[in-house]
Amino acid sequence: MSAVGRAYALPAVYQERGDSMAESTTKHGLSRRSFIKGAAAFTAAGALTGCSAQTGTLSETGEDGAGEQVPETQIFAGTCRAACMQGCLMNVHVRDGRVVRTTARDLPDPRYTRICSKGLTLPFRMYGTERLQYPMKRIGERGEGKFERISWDEAISTIAEKWQGYIDEFGPASLVKMTCGGNLGALPFSWTTLASIVGMTSIGTDFDAAHTSAISPMLGAGDMFRQQNENADLLNSKTIVSWGFNPAISHVQTMHFINEAREKGARHIVIDPVFGPTMNFADWYIPVRAGTDAVLAMSTLGVVVENNWHDTEFLKAHTEAPFLVKEDGALLRMSDLGVEPQQGDPNPTTGEPTIIDPCVVWDEKTQGAVAYTDATDPRLLDVPAVNGMAVKTEWEITLESIREYDPETAAGITGVSADDIRELARVYGEEGPVNTYNIYGFNHYFNAHQAYRAIDTLGFATGNIGKPGAATGSGNGEPYGMYNMVGIAAPKNSEGVLCANGSPVSPPISMLLDVLESGEYLGQPYPLKSVVMATLNPLTTNTDRNYTIQWLNKFEFIIVADIVMTETAKYADILLPVAHWFEVTEAHWQSTNLPFVLWQDKVADPLYESKSDVEIVRLIAEGLGHSDFPLLKNEEEFQKVLFDSEMLRQYGVTLDRLKEEKAVRHWTPDDSELIAYKDLKFATPSGRISFYRETPYKMYDVGQEVDAVRERSLAWDPPKEAWIDSEARKKFPFHCISERQRHRTHSQWQEVGYMCELYPHPVCKINPADATELGVQEGDVVKIFNDRGYAVVNALIHAGVPRKTITVSRGYEEDEFIEGHFANLTMKDYDNISRNQVFLDCAVGIERIGEGE
Ligand code: SF4
Repeated sequence: MSAVGRAYALPAVYQERGDSMAESTTKHGLSRRSFIKGAAAFTAAGALTGCSAQTGTLSETGEDGAGEQVPETQIFAGTCRAACMQGCLMNVHVRDGRVVRTTARDLPDPRYTRICSKGLTLPFRMYGTERLQYPMKRIGERGEGKFERISWDEAISTIAEKWQGYIDEFGPASLVKMTCGGNLGALPFSWTTLASIVGMTSIGTDFDAAHTSAISPMLGAGDMFRQQNENADLLNSKTIVSWGFNPAISHVQTMHFINEAREKGARHIVIDPVFGPTMNFADWYIPVRAGTDAVLAMSTLGVVVENNWHDTEFLKAHTEAPFLVKEDGALLRMSDLGVEPQQGDPNPTTGEPTIIDPCVVWDEKTQGAVAYTDATDPRLLDVPAVNGMAVKTEWEITLESIREYDPETAAGITGVSADDIRELARVYGEEGPVNTYNIYGFNHYFNAHQAYRAIDTLGFATGNIGKPGAATGSGNGEPYGMYNMVGIAAPKNSEGVLCANGSPVSPPISMLLDVLESGEYLGQPYPLKSVVMATLNPLTTNTDRNYTIQWLNKFEFIIVADIVMTETAKYADILLPVAHWFEVTEAHWQSTNLPFVLWQDKVADPLYESKSDVEIVRLIAEGLGHSDFPLLKNEEEFQKVLFDSEMLRQYGVTLDRLKEEKAVRHWTPDDSELIAYKDLKFATPSGRISFYRETPYKMYDVGQEVDAVRERSLAWDPPKEAWIDSEARKKFPFHCISERQRHRTHSQWQEVGYMCELYPHPVCKINPADATELGVQEGDVVKIFNDRGYAVVNALIHAGVPRKTITVSRGYEEDEFIEGHFANLTMKDYDNISRNQVFLDCAVGIERIGEGE
């Protein structure tokens, strides 16, 4: 037996060597002295075999003395698959079979050659003491971290036996697959293949979804991550607005381009409730009250329109702004005017015939109502009744929805002065092209879709889309359509027969405990018995940690597949060790703001007994009698299917090219810079940007009521719990928000001593005046609490935090807090539109409980 957790076995290479990397690479009890000693020992020879460099060699000078004979260093190509999504390409330097360091690797376009401190410390993740080495079974209580080593045969036969029993008694949908962003390479998609072959339930992790629910109807389904131009185009912007976006911490690739743009004369405006590192690179910092971004955007738009700074021609030609809406809220269509609808091409997804019944606009030229496709000069406002029907344009309804937020009113809500709102509007009107860069900063409140809609409407209405220097929205995500998801989710067996058995039902996480306890979902029997979790750590990253523990414990059988031990992994009944990123060959996309697909050479055989995701999935599938799927034969076969997409063919990206060139440009093979929506064609049914919702776009439907009238256009609802005059704030007077860390991505890198030394513990930042009122001094121990739980951390007094607001570091595990956990404080509830975890909508009390050490 080997106990795990903070005391589990050292990797064999360190045991053999007789020195301890435990002190140097674990995050707790770290001393600088022992850390540096261990770091120097890190380059000592190890015992990896079975790989060969694919890209030339290089002699290096060792740390132990110039002129000494040092072993030859081989250099492989590698990529960082962190959830920051930037995907840096790197050289992986290997000496005597061991990875000794990583460096930035030249990309075909050198402007994108870059790496951050996390990429530079990846070897420590590979050789870290918290690396899972063997399959293990739990022998202690869930969460205790006591495991016993077992063989792969025992692990797979245990899983197969358990799962077959559940399948026989409760059906395959009683098995759940959960994956998230722990590895953004290609191979974890094989878990989707497993879910499909077996017929499992796939449950999404419901992160950052308010953005999707806002943008998908505006720009068309699937296009929500393609709003940004590639980063090099930032140099064409006159103004860059980082709105709820903190690139100095979470998007360092982008920060570099923003700084270059500033050197060229661009103005960088940062809008955020808390003063952070990005503001050091801002020309104007606008501190907005947390959760009021929608109001700021709506008020700014009002001033833009008042001054005629909006782009009327763009609105008429490329948006649905002139579309007419009847009094009952439905769009006016040609069938309302007696024109018979036509049958169109079948819907490619459903195969059902489509109906062509165009929306109607008022044409100034003919002074009549016509199909929008036939109008030459559609009117935006004050349309007369059409065939006796009173109508308004989408634009008119948009302006009505923002009318209440004049600058003075908005100033009272947002904390941004009326003068500053007017100046921001002037910037949008006169200082373009403007790139409004947002990612997920304001995503984490109740009704956060309202903020995305309002900010994007401001950007689109000023014509800041589809041209150099102009973009509005997020560029963070997988390039939609790059992968052949149908191929891996409906895999073919060796006879070419399709297999697509995955359950279409996916309960939101906020209801998971109910489903597990009742065995029902949407009024139907829905017993859930077992879950496999790969590439995620919900105990650290989800809201309401106690709730997460409850639903974890309701599963009868938990499997976790991961590279390292996490606090979620300690709840596993069976733990499966996954190969590190450098131990597999794997293609990897960069986020949509960057233009390359990248390649990872296999640098070493998987350490210890770890296996690739594809191999683990194949073993489990075979254990259940599904041994006839060629795409699971190995990593190469799997990626051949995954990369068999129309988009990659169009751009000439093949696996062979990737192996050879290591980085291949996509989006624009002619090397022109990607300008999102350059053709001004959008994926909505009309091909235009839509401002109006006839029916609310609900991301999930469990029978919840939605205010359909309010959802039609722009609106703002305050944060549910954290708003100033909420019931919760009367009891818990502080708004608690969280901050991401530069040295970790979500909970990744939590095991790397180099990084933990920089920020060894989570802290609470508090305004000096609030600290004085509470008698808190720098470094004091404070308890943050509400009815859901508490966290105990050291206080950091920070004038950049607004009054009655605190921030708590996010991404730390339970044993890094003095006591408790940040995720104990947050609520699990979702608003009625988005499956969206709300990390920042949280009211807390705070008290000093002692002096810091
Ligand atoms: S964490 Fe992000 S920015 Fe840093 S090396 Fe990895 S991919 Fe690049």
